[in-house]
Amino acid sequence: MHLKHKLLLLTILLLSSFLVQAQKSFKIVPLGVFGGIDESNLSAYMVAPIGSNNYICMDAGTLHYGIEKAIENKVFTIPAEQVLKKYIKGYCISHAHLDHVAGLIINSPDDSAKNIYAFADCINTIKTHYFTWASWANFANEGDAPQLKKYTYKVLTPGMETDIENTAMKVRAFPLSHSNLTSTAFLVQSKGDYLLYLGDTGTDEIEKSHNLQNLWQAIAPLIKAGKLKAIMIEVSFPDEQPDKTLFGHLTPKWLMTEMNGLAKLTGANELKNLNVVVTHLKPPYISIQKIKKQLGAENNLGLNLVYPQQGKVLDF
Ligand SMILES: [Zn+2]
Ligand SMILES: [Zn+2]
Repeated sequence: MHLKHKLLLLTILLLSSFLVQAQKSFKIVPLGVFGGIDESNLSAYMVAPIGSNNYICMDAGTLHYGIEKAIENKVFTIPAEQVLKKYIKGYCISHAHLDHVAGLIINSPDDSAKNIYAFADCINTIKTHYFTWASWANFANEGDAPQLKKYTYKVLTPGMETDIENTAMKVRAFPLSHSNLTSTAFLVQSKGDYLLYLGDTGTDEIEKSHNLQNLWQAIAPLIKAGKLKAIMIEVSFPDEQPDKTLFGHLTPKWLMTEMNGLAKLTGANELKNLNVVVTHLKPPYISIQKIKKQLGAENNLGLNLVYPQQGKVLDF
């Protein structure tokens, strides 16, 4: 090959890798990734548009320890207290189970004023069970007096897009079935690109529900248009867990059943290499290893399975 041609090829390669880079829309900083036991590593994910430090935090199981980990990894260059106060502009809470809110409650004395976005049910539980003066001080704007008014509850309406204040993002919430509770999927939008985060959920078949089917119908057009950058979804137990003791959670088999349901709406090709971030794996370590192995073996669609790590940036 001529030198001229080689240079041209090199330029094209550099440009295309730059373009791939430029297409990324979201930065995610996982503050906690597991679904139980280890109280220093429970579901919480900071999400911002690439290039911005104005984050929304999806669930808030672990905050402080995850921020410290991210600082160790040089993800943030300001003190942990400042990350909490200045970078996290609000919380989207999927449901009020403690592994999704403990960090928010424990860190509340040191937090800054911001909004808590959730469905009415979830806000009601936070209001009547946590920020009550009986179990903690009431840092919110409603509920037991006196109200310290640091947090403002923002009730989300299913399917309606809402601005996430002080960020460049909007969010649309969808109900999920989680045993006896309604949990939430959050569809975050930034400049026409989307990221889907699901709180705890069971599969429709076991939950006797259509919530996941409805969600797949809502996002299928975004996948076909190439606008959905990633799905963050739980797998709590390995396949050995009997269906009757799933407590509103997924296994590798049930995740793949749901993904194949989604593929029926989009065409299987559209899901090839789709980023699927697997959250909420429940310790012990041996179960986590099993889940990863089983997902790898059952991944007939060729999904790009990603296992988040505490304090390590993901970008999509
Ligand atoms: Zn959970
Ligand atoms: Zn839960």
